[in-house]
Amino acid sequence: MKRLLLVGAGHAHVYIMKKLSKHPLTNVEVVLISPNENQYYSGMLAGCIEGIYSIDQIRIYIGDTVKKAGIKWVKDMAVSIDPNSQNVVTQEGQTISYDLISFDIGSLTSGIDLPGVLEYADTLKPNFYFPILIEKVRNAKKLVIVGGGVAGTELALSLQTWRTNNGKEPLTLISSSRLMDKGASYVSDRIEHLLEKKGASLLLNQRANKVTQDKIILFPSGEEIEFDSLLWVTGPRAPDIFKNSGLAVDNGYLLVKDTLQSVEYPNIFGAGDCIKISNQPPLSKAGVYPVRQAPYLWKNMKRLLNGNSMRSYQPHFSFLSILATGNREGLMLYLGLAFHGRLMWLIKTFMDRRFIWLYQKAPKVGSESTKWLKVIGITLMGLFLWGITFLFITSTYHPVMTLFAQLFSSLMNTILIGMFVLLFIILFLVIFFERIRFK
Ligand SMILES: Cc1cc2nc3c(=O)[nH]c(=O)nc-3n(C[C@H](O)[C@H](O)[C@H](O)COP(=O)(O)OP(=O)(O)OC[C@H]3O[C@@H](n4cnc5c(N)ncnc54)[C@H](O)[C@@H]3O)c2cc1C
Repeated sequence: MKRLLLVGAGHAHVYIMKKLSKHPLTNVEVVLISPNENQYYSGMLAGCIEGIYSIDQIRIYIGDTVKKAGIKWVKDMAVSIDPNSQNVVTQEGQTISYDLISFDIGSLTSGIDLPGVLEYADTLKPNFYFPILIEKVRNAKKLVIVGGGVAGTELALSLQTWRTNNGKEPLTLISSSRLMDKGASYVSDRIEHLLEKKGASLLLNQRANKVTQDKIILFPSGEEIEFDSLLWVTGPRAPDIFKNSGLAVDNGYLLVKDTLQSVEYPNIFGAGDCIKISNQPPLSKAGVYPVRQAPYLWKNMKRLLNGNSMRSYQPHFSFLSILATGNREGLMLYLGLAFHGRLMWLIKTFMDRRFIWLYQKAPKVGSESTKWLKVIGITLMGLFLWGITFLFITSTYHPVMTLFAQLFSSLMNTILIGMFVLLFIILFLVIFFERIRFK
């Protein structure tokens, strides 16, 4: 019997575990190494901080997932791998052998080597700290966030919204550049304006130089900012395990081919934040990539086990991203365009809830998106019934029925045209009142 070792319960591995629950592999023992009881979905974290989702709505319980997949769960962290003897050593000192191994362990937070950060700041990763962190940052008297990228900005927006709604002091966001400066400058303008409007203090183009127990010292201003909770969200850094184990890496990330296999060892696979695909520009560290890589990972691992040839994964470099901006509004970024408003939040909540619903034990789809799903469902059902009725009555020759069919058809056509006109009016209003901006 061969052993497939899954390290980390990231997006791609939860997909694989779901696949295993439906299509178990014969003569293969599957083992998961994961320290967390739950896998938290970062896309819904901002909504959870704001109080829109409960903590249970944003996490996947690993105990259920492994049970359904019929796999063994080692509740531990992998700390090193020996590709020659094909063994992994865990934090608690266990040695686990493998024939085939896959890593989906995400990334860590950069900048933690700055004096004082490890001791006094909190990071979001590894993600099993979420529940403790949420309460801490919500209730801190003086909350400071360092990091003005997408994650830091989204968290600042949702935390500021929660704090305003709950009578807490405004937070301070420190960024070494403008907010979300990797995108168009009008996006930075808009998001900075929005955060300030919500009451947050922004310190832009300031770098954290030193952190003490209750202060952060900035460069170049030299300003000292007091805090009783410091959240460090300065972007991703590679996990240590690959470099420490002597595997081929790029900037610490496991170097893989487009088949998601290590460039050195065909029986080592990887997906998500923790990899770098050789001969490809670096991908953004976003959950959308492990989600897209998951089917390739699953098929290629099966192909290797069966001695078949591999399939190549070709990344898409553009993807739709929607940030929660507080008060059930969202900012959609796609192909250089930015759209802001409640409609964007509805699209985001629908997509996020759909994703988590796929992996949770019991569907926990809540109020908002279900309402919209119901409206869409009822409309489609209505159109379907209309079609059937129309076909039925037009297929008779009875003159009264024919007249009825004509009236019915005119009425339905009017309703349909009305719906299209309404849709255009809504789009028009969204463009002008929700300030959709074009590049
Ligand atoms: C606040 C915030 C909001 C975000 N919002 C979005 C968004 O809306 N859309 C989007 O696409 N991306 C978003 N991202 C980015 C996204 O979270 C990551 O890109 C994504 O989670 C990476 O997925 P992954 O499968 O690689 O790993 P992860 O989801 O990070 O999962 C890795 C798992 O492996 C475990 N692990 C780590 N080390 C080990 C080890 N040594 N042994 C065993 N297990 C280990 C971890 O505990 C974790 O459970 C956001 C990030 C943040 C911080």
